[in-house]
Amino acid sequence: MGRIVRAKWGKVVLMSAITTDMVEEARRIHGTNPPATAAVGRALTGLALYSMVFKESAVRKIVMQFMADGPIGEITVETNMKGHFRAYVRNPNPEYELKGEKLPVGDVVGTGNLYVYKHLEEGIYQSVVPLISGEIAEDIAYFVYKSEQIPSAFALGVLVDEYGRVKAAGGLWAYLEPGATEDEIKMLEERFQHLGSVSKLVDAGLDNLALLNTISRSYTVVDEMEVEYRCWCSRESVEEALVSLAASERENLLKEEKVEVRCRYCGKTYTFTRDEIRQLFLET
Ligand SMILES: [Zn+2]
Repeated sequence: MGRIVRAKWGKVVLMSAITTDMVEEARRIHGTNPPATAAVGRALTGLALYSMVFKESAVRKIVMQFMADGPIGEITVETNMKGHFRAYVRNPNPEYELKGEKLPVGDVVGTGNLYVYKHLEEGIYQSVVPLISGEIAEDIAYFVYKSEQIPSAFALGVLVDEYGRVKAAGGLWAYLEPGATEDEIKMLEERFQHLGSVSKLVDAGLDNLALLNTISRSYTVVDEMEVEYRCWCSRESVEEALVSLAASERENLLKEEKVEVRCRYCGKTYTFTRDEIRQLFLET
């Protein structure tokens, strides 16, 4: 189980995330190689931090979709706003070249766009921004700046061990509320610049509060949320997807003895016999 903690420090809203278990579960499900693990893990952690803002709002679901031209192709991360997160990655094993110690996340993601969908009862709100670097943290910060006009700083990190498993993952996010002073903005920028690697801090044993302490020691905790990788697919949601297929695709399905649908977020397989498919299409 991971955790997000939200705190306030003057006009600064400060949040920390520990997401090691969530990111390791994503790696286990998708079999990602190290740079893909880091990319997906940063996206999941960034979404976990961002979604905290909408915790008790009318938002039912948030989707962040990184559509880019790098070898990874696409990363989609989603939350149902109940502390459950899931991810999809088109190519979990992108080719890469190590340049120094840092995993080349920007290289495997490439250039493209970040689409963010907020699902509410009355409809879906979509925003799109170009990717700044493909390093994920900067990209989400730019999205927040463009869509909410909020200057903020993100630090997102994933550390993998020699077997490619996730050793530590976490993040920090700080943003300024209206009325923040120039001094507060400057101090925040400086502290993020001197932060170092957030995944190494998590690996060294820092918990949520200790992570917050790296930015400020005079904050007040506002609230917290447990986060985990847990898919919310069901036979009903797969049936809905089948029913929404075009007529030609429906016809193709009816030619099959049985149809297997694999959830792209968790790998669970749902099997339908031809009779079940026929019945389903008759009802709709
Ligand atoms: Zn699923």
